[in-house]
Amino acid sequence: MVFRDKFKNADHALTFNDVILLPGWTTIEPSEALVSSNASVNVKLNIPFLSSPMDTVTESEMAIALARHGGLGVLHRNCSLDEEVEMAKSVKRAEALIIRDVVTVDPDKTVEELLRMMEEHKIHGFPVVEANKKLVGIVTSRDIRLADPKLKARDVMTREVVTAGEDISLEEAKKILHKHRIEKLPIVDESFRVRGLITMRDITLKGTYPNALRDDEGRLICAAAISPFDLARAKSLDEYVDVLVTDVAHFHNKNCFDATKKLLKEISADLIVGNIGTYEAAEDCITKLDGIAGLRVGIGSGSICTTSVVTRAGAPTLYAVAQASDAVKEYGANLPVIADGGIRNPGDIAVALSVGASAAMMGNIFAGCTESPGTLVALEGRYYKEYYGMGSAAARRKRFAQDRYSKPSKSINEGVEGWVPYRGGVADIVAEFVGGLQAAMGYAGTKTIPEMWEKAKLAFVTEKGSQELLPHDVLLPRSKPS
Ligand code: 5GP
Repeated sequence: MVFRDKFKNADHALTFNDVILLPGWTTIEPSEALVSSNASVNVKLNIPFLSSPMDTVTESEMAIALARHGGLGVLHRNCSLDEEVEMAKSVKRAEALIIRDVVTVDPDKTVEELLRMMEEHKIHGFPVVEANKKLVGIVTSRDIRLADPKLKARDVMTREVVTAGEDISLEEAKKILHKHRIEKLPIVDESFRVRGLITMRDITLKGTYPNALRDDEGRLICAAAISPFDLARAKSLDEYVDVLVTDVAHFHNKNCFDATKKLLKEISADLIVGNIGTYEAAEDCITKLDGIAGLRVGIGSGSICTTSVVTRAGAPTLYAVAQASDAVKEYGANLPVIADGGIRNPGDIAVALSVGASAAMMGNIFAGCTESPGTLVALEGRYYKEYYGMGSAAARRKRFAQDRYSKPSKSINEGVEGWVPYRGGVADIVAEFVGGLQAAMGYAGTKTIPEMWEKAKLAFVTEKGSQELLPHDVLLPRSKPS
């Protein structure tokens, strides 16, 4: 072994700022560029963005907002199993075509009690059922608003209930609701027992978000982070979510692989594995982990990450994407590659797509949204939201995601705590990032993400050159863009 060869054969671990997307011959306008993609083998995205599984980024509110706009939120795991399952359930409940956990009442409930229940559950009507769950009527706020509070549900309910069977489609449901001018349609089985409920409100919401990602039952698509070592959590979440994502700082590790092999036998959701950073790691995932559905790549590029500072180890996201994408291509593996860490603007995403990524995962950008869990703080006249790394002292105090890091590093912080500028709602970020990405695709002359893989060209920029690419020689009113 010649030590000097380690320099001779060394790769260039390129990061986003090292390269630039070259303009190419174009026949399209940016608004014609299509940004749909895949998060995993079976889960399609209408916009190629995922939010990081971090407790300052993705809980159910973020996951619901992002899925409504066509992206995917990955619920964090820095909480108890029950809390993570509850988050997944609320994403699935948010927009179901058929509500499954229907609140029903018995015929003896008084109007007074019904009014109280409506207030408590924030709903405006209940199917009335007998002890055997058989539907006997329906009461809505209209039936009870002015009724004597002592009357019973049986006295005020509508007895002729319009119902439908389990196999009803969205279009059929719309027609029935319109024809009978009703707001609620109970779903019943052959014995007239209540199996679910379709409401006008949920159907109207569907029209509001035409780009939303939905499963076969019309519910929002949901993903959740897991540890490969926590089979119980993976199995519980598997009942509710469409995608599970391993959340490990260095997944190319024998223990992770052994645990993941076991896990793959027990779950039916798509499993995205990571994080990985090299060709060899991707090759091992492809050849040794039969049944995985995607790769999460990038080590050490995260904006809150100090792994490379502390350990000098890392695989910058851009470099890692090219490595993993080549392995996927050479093995004909058809696995989406997700670029995770270090993304600050739509151009970074365009560059990641041009070396084979299918989508980008962002922590920093989404942490600044209204829908992220952190509180809004005002500092010197500007608004910020709290954001910290999962390897930071703040995240580790909660102790649920400690196995994200290897044993010795559990006593070393691999992340920092801070604030990010408040950016408004997810809808605003999505509009900004989709617009920016389409503009980049317009420059590259590519109409789709697969065309970005094939056609987009990159060039290096020197450190001096990158200064010229920023605004320069003008006095800027605020700080420079990063
Ligand atoms: P960002 O979008 O903030 O640049 O990067 C977010 C990504 O950083 C996450 O999706 C995750 O992969 C990674 N990450 C989150 N917390 C930490 C941490 O404390 N240390 C390291 N090394 N990476 C982290």
